[in-house]
Amino acid sequence: MLLTDSVRAVPGVGEKTEKLLKKLGIVTVEDLLAHIPRRYQDFRTIDALASLPFGASGLFCVQVCGAPTSVHLRGGLTKTSFIVMDDSGAAEVVLFNQIYFKQRLRDGQTVYIYGKLTAGRKNVQITSPQIFFERPQELQPVYALTTGLSQGLLRKTIACALQCAEITDPYSQRFLERYQLMPLKDALHILHDPTDEREIRAAKRRMAADELLLFSCALAKTDEPSGVPNQAVFVTAGCKQAFLRKLPFEPTGAQLRVMDEICADVASRHTMNRLIQGDVGCGKTVVAFFAMFLAAQNGYQSALMAPTEILAQQHFKEAQKYFPREEIVLITGAQRAAQRKEALQVIARGKAKIVIGTHALVCGDMGFANLGLIITDEQHKFGVKQRARLSGKKDVHTLIMSATPIPRSLLMVLYRKSSVSQIDELPPGRKPVETFIVHKNKYAGMIGFLKERMDEHRQIYMVCPLIEDAQDGKLKSVNMLQKELTREFAGYTMGLLHGKMKNAEKADVMARFAAGGIDVLVSTTVVEVGVNVPNATVMCVLNAERFGLAQLHQLRGRVGRGAERSYCFLVSDHPAAYERLQILKNHSDGFEIAQKDMELRGGGDIFGTRQHGEAAFRFADLYEDVGLLKQTQEILVSDAPEFAPEREYIRRKAEEKYAAQALEIVFN
Ligand code: ADP
Ligand code: MG
Repeated sequence: MLLTDSVRAVPGVGEKTEKLLKKLGIVTVEDLLAHIPRRYQDFRTIDALASLPFGASGLFCVQVCGAPTSVHLRGGLTKTSFIVMDDSGAAEVVLFNQIYFKQRLRDGQTVYIYGKLTAGRKNVQITSPQIFFERPQELQPVYALTTGLSQGLLRKTIACALQCAEITDPYSQRFLERYQLMPLKDALHILHDPTDEREIRAAKRRMAADELLLFSCALAKTDEPSGVPNQAVFVTAGCKQAFLRKLPFEPTGAQLRVMDEICADVASRHTMNRLIQGDVGCGKTVVAFFAMFLAAQNGYQSALMAPTEILAQQHFKEAQKYFPREEIVLITGAQRAAQRKEALQVIARGKAKIVIGTHALVCGDMGFANLGLIITDEQHKFGVKQRARLSGKKDVHTLIMSATPIPRSLLMVLYRKSSVSQIDELPPGRKPVETFIVHKNKYAGMIGFLKERMDEHRQIYMVCPLIEDAQDGKLKSVNMLQKELTREFAGYTMGLLHGKMKNAEKADVMARFAAGGIDVLVSTTVVEVGVNVPNATVMCVLNAERFGLAQLHQLRGRVGRGAERSYCFLVSDHPAAYERLQILKNHSDGFEIAQKDMELRGGGDIFGTRQHGEAAFRFADLYEDVGLLKQTQEILVSDAPEFAPEREYIRRKAEEKYAAQALEIVFN
């Protein structure tokens, strides 16, 4: 049986099973073997019934005492129970609607059961345990399933495939030894039938290496160090001074440095492809405008893309400080067809130098007269396809602005060292946002505090996880909060903002808030990214436990943008979340927060590179496997003649897998 054969080739797989497997995306034997367990259930130790406390789960090896009895309960339920014993004691096993066990179990029979010990009225009970007639695998794989397909059947089918399939390794023995990779056959056997965690890690490493080799290969192609010849060489002399004269503040050293780095790029022989990384509030926007200024001075158009309508509007306003009004065009999803058509014409004729918009900007029909620069702001929120289409134009300079704390080691692997800029300095006079975790008993006090701030003409954000009331009312919704606060905040102006509102309404509310016409903005996370209203000094997040740390850090970044003292209240009554929220209370630096979060939850979760994006990895995790990623790059650039077939194989496979995609996707 070959890996490319249909699953029908596996003994025992008929039409029915074939159909079920197809639902899981499994068509070939190879797919079947690549269906790796989601986790393993640990059956390595057998516990004695008397040795575990109530509430604990364990695997017990027991004898059935007497015949099981069944009774019919109300509602068509049947309850089957029987007594089991081991050397240490006895327990009553209770099963519901599993009457077939009555036939299958005999007095004196030995079985293995896995379940939780509870205190029954008269005895120790184990309700609805897993029952095995033989000792289960020590680390029992638990697979993702689909209705109609049981763990048992899938395990059996995979075990069968493992035995019969001819697993050929695409890599030679020498190659595997040289790079300390486990043979594919061993790795698959281990992943489906492991004996310990160390082994599993080594097997996963092999599988991750396979993925990363293809990824690195595709990456090397997208980011060829020879670069794309620069079709739009900008003259930069005098530009910086001219721009700085327009600035309402002194730029920080970091901002100046990054401006110089941009100048060097656009004046060079290669097209710029630069990532600008800087924590929330460090002042990335002016740097973006500077780059656009350079383009405009050289007669080129530039496009600035924001992840939200609100942010695009804000940039549009801000741009008017630096550019003549008639040269700026805003493109949003909110525009009527006629408006959009007119805007597009202005762009096509080249009259618009500065084009600002949401990703609606990249939807289809944009025709620029002479586009020289594309900037994506707060880029961690962008999808792959959206960017791939625009940046498909390779002779256009690109800038990516992100507050996502991507570890430097990873950046160095993914980008060329020279194309990452960091703004690692905050504008002067910023005070850290004072952060408090607010429990129920302090909530009223907080409301009083908010009023005092509003009396000083400061503005407030209140962020909720939901728009409308959920049935159980456990989570705050924007609507609920607004109702609750109407009396409390009588005399203050309240505004509502959420994703279900029309774009024009949203823009209107945001504009009023920015102009100081709204005291308290009750909102969902639509304000999460980029919004800049320096007079707003308080951020309250309701049900803070519902948000990720990175998200909370972004939300908190909405305040503390001026010289005023600013506050962030994380309202939560979930003790389980305190440890996480405490991190936010104690740290203000995005990197440290990400680091701590990673320690608490593991890497993949924060950034989600494993699950999301089109570079979806099954095994690799860009954040945890940086070392392996580096190694795969070394493998690919090595010119060891004996590994030429391997490199050729990888090239071919990468071509199949990634064909037309631009690989910036990793930050998606
Ligand atoms: P982010 O990096 O989060 O996008 P912004 O570009 O929105 O940050 O800047 C945050 C705030 O800081 C804005 O109000 C901006 O005008 C202000 N700002 C930026 N740079 C400076 C500076 N060098 N000095 C003082 N204020 C600055
Ligand atoms: Mg920003």
